[in-house]
Amino acid sequence: MNAQQNRIVLNNARIFTNNTLILGHLIIEGNKIQSIHEGSFSNLGNEQNDQDNSNNIKIKIFDLENALVLPGFIDMHVHFRDFEQSSKETLETGSKGALFGGVTTVITMPNTNPPLSSLKSIESFQKKLNNTPIYCNIGIYSGIKQDFNPSELPVMKKKGIFGVKVYPGDFSDNLPLKWEDGWRSDMYPGEFTQKISQILDNFQQKYDYWRQLFKLCKENNVPILFHPELPRDQKSLKKIYEQGLKIAEIENSPNSHLFAHHVSHPVYTNELGFVEMIIAFLYQFFPEPKDAPHVHFVHVSSAEVIEVIQEMLKKKEYPCSIEVSPHHLLLNYDMKFPSENYAKVLVPLRSPEIQQQLKKEWQSGKADVIGTDHAPHTYKEKSQDFFSIPSGFPSIDFASRILLSQVFQGEISLAQLVEMYSTHPAKLLNLPHKGKIAPDMDADLIVVHQTEPYRLNHTRMKSKQKWTPWESYQVSAEIDYVFLGGKLAFERNSGIFTPFGTFLNRDSEL
Ligand SMILES: [Zn+2]
Repeated sequence: MNAQQNRIVLNNARIFTNNTLILGHLIIEGNKIQSIHEGSFSNLGNEQNDQDNSNNIKIKIFDLENALVLPGFIDMHVHFRDFEQSSKETLETGSKGALFGGVTTVITMPNTNPPLSSLKSIESFQKKLNNTPIYCNIGIYSGIKQDFNPSELPVMKKKGIFGVKVYPGDFSDNLPLKWEDGWRSDMYPGEFTQKISQILDNFQQKYDYWRQLFKLCKENNVPILFHPELPRDQKSLKKIYEQGLKIAEIENSPNSHLFAHHVSHPVYTNELGFVEMIIAFLYQFFPEPKDAPHVHFVHVSSAEVIEVIQEMLKKKEYPCSIEVSPHHLLLNYDMKFPSENYAKVLVPLRSPEIQQQLKKEWQSGKADVIGTDHAPHTYKEKSQDFFSIPSGFPSIDFASRILLSQVFQGEISLAQLVEMYSTHPAKLLNLPHKGKIAPDMDADLIVVHQTEPYRLNHTRMKSKQKWTPWESYQVSAEIDYVFLGGKLAFERNSGIFTPFGTFLNRDSEL
């Protein structure tokens, strides 16, 4: 043991370990959790608060007064932008928002400008990461843009990428179909998967591109992540959106634009259609599920889509995972927002009924992970007319306060939240020392307590943009401390933030 190392004791805490809460204390040594004990630290006969004489180790004790100690949250889906979009967000500001939100690890998406789709841009992004103070651990995905060269994937993997993200809209030339191509909303789930095999025959060349990509991801042991929507052209999109506005007027919808946005990106034709297309790919390319790469569907917005993935992939043992986002679980297009524009997101906010059904699936444990899709834009960008503004909003600062409040209200269990927003993401991301509280795990820890109900306010946000569709949303949770790699990185009372984040590599812990 290094005599210079500090020891931190989190005393009188309710510690979430082994899937249960124990009342006791946790000892951090260096960057690791050393041990977890029932009972109070001082009651064990060690009254020495600031110095362990035998080892000359400095001990700092935090009396947590029964607050919760949880593994730091791990967000698989954020957009920390930077590069040419640093007016929206930077690695520094995004990670500060994450730390404030109790998120100790994030993986940021590749749709930057320039995109993280070539070795060159990945290298310059990593250089940036190494030269910027960052407040949480950050990893990156690569993406499929024009300059993506599949043969570079093994080297990208060595550089540390955590997966390959696919945006159908960015790459429609290589997608075999659009949703106008033969989807009917009265099809039964799975019908499209059967039909699509015929459609695929007409697209041999494009089909082969996807086959190669899936194979490469499998060979390199990286997941492939899908934004679940079929590509659309702006003209047809606008036409349906305008029809949606008319329906909204007839139906007296409180948010006509959000309603029309949903109508123009419907669950069945758009989201489920895309998912069934990917299922058809998997069936065709990999009759043996064990040969298929891991497929991750981001921000799934409806129970139907979850059920189809359950039935058609999970039950057949295709390696896959389902991500849900707090806004699809808890917000819908009829709610009151400071501005409808703030709540424009893809996939869109759904109806109250679809939202409730999704929440039920989530409560019954059918989603695998929670990802916020923290996707900031400037206030100015979000202030133009609804149809032309970009989709997405910042959410990392408040997401865990919102989700923990769901726990305190009995909507989900603490075990479920920790599993979906820490343990399971760590597993999918190949981070074996994160996502759990146990001896020898990384000491990425958060201290949380239940509060009287209060309303969220944008002035508290630490990420770059100071606007949110969650304005005034009622929560009852606070994050008091965040420890990153054994060091106190955030303390709410003093308002101290210290940038102890590091750049993560998917293979570094193997
Ligand atoms: Zn996203």
